[in-house]
Amino acid sequence: LPLAEKSLIARIRRMPGAGLSGAATSGLIRLGIGDDTAILRFPAGQEVLVTTDFSLEGVHFRRDWHSPESVGHRCLARGLSDIAAMGGEPEAAFLSLALPARLPQAWVDGFLRGLLALASQYGVTLAGGDTAQSPKERILADIVVLGSVLQGKAVRRSGAKPGDAIYVTGELGASALALKKLSLSLHSGKKLNPKKYPRHFFPEPRIAVGRYLLAHAMASAMIDLSDGLSTDLHHICEESRVGAHISAELIPRAEGATLQQALHGGEDYELLFTAPAKRKIPRSIAGVPVRRIGTVVQQKRGSRTSHHVMILDHGKAAELLPRGWEHFARESSKKPKSKSQASPK
Ligand SMILES: [Mg+2]
Repeated sequence: LPLAEKSLIARIRRMPGAGLSGAATSGLIRLGIGDDTAILRFPAGQEVLVTTDFSLEGVHFRRDWHSPESVGHRCLARGLSDIAAMGGEPEAAFLSLALPARLPQAWVDGFLRGLLALASQYGVTLAGGDTAQSPKERILADIVVLGSVLQGKAVRRSGAKPGDAIYVTGELGASALALKKLSLSLHSGKKLNPKKYPRHFFPEPRIAVGRYLLAHAMASAMIDLSDGLSTDLHHICEESRVGAHISAELIPRAEGATLQQALHGGEDYELLFTAPAKRKIPRSIAGVPVRRIGTVVQQKRGSRTSHHVMILDHGKAAELLPRGWEHFARESSKKPKSKSQASPK
């Protein structure tokens, strides 16, 4: 049986990367777990970044597909990736968990191990949270991550200008490929080796890349690829009121991933950013390859949508529609009985 809240909290406080760390690990956390609220003190001249993300069993993970360590890691990685996309430094996390009454304690321990290992890797303190019994036999986790950034310096989605170059970090499609293999394994019964798909099971948030881009004032707009390149590029275009042209052959694809998986598969947690064309961008930042995939263009007049994204593939130009996770959402809303399916987002 999972531990009652009090002993769960006591357990968390004993784990590295959690609890009342005070000045020992981070000057910002004045008070961590154990009081009514945490106390954080941000230095003058800094702004606070706040992001919140659900991890829901059956939607974002499946217990038969993902180890508890992977679920805990991915839960925090989603929030860290959002902080990376602003060019910020992650500082503190707050975790709310609703757990089924019959969930084995070993699962909770594994989840916390995965989450706290990633937290300590990035100097993030788990500074509070809440636990409750889930009314359904499903695990629900909600994480809030707080980050810091120099006042006025956060990289927004809205700064892309016509003529800017468009870049992505790393390789795309690895997570969608792993999901595809996982769903095939339902029929074949063959187990997937998570070590072969680290980008899906244990994604590394691109904090160092975001930090570098901010420090060198290189990026005009940025977003993390959680929904999929097609959807996230539309988000930048929408907020910046611009269009985009990208080339299929320039998109860095993970080994074995199709173009469709690279374009529309979510949860790659790479960064998509724009920069003035004249600005020299390193081919690799903090050990992560950076590739130019296209150009920001002016918003097309008279276009049906407020923004226009074109993809050039084998000499042919076609409109690139946002078909990331929203596509899956639409699909499943047509079939209300399939709510329990795991979808990429
Ligand atoms: Mg994001």
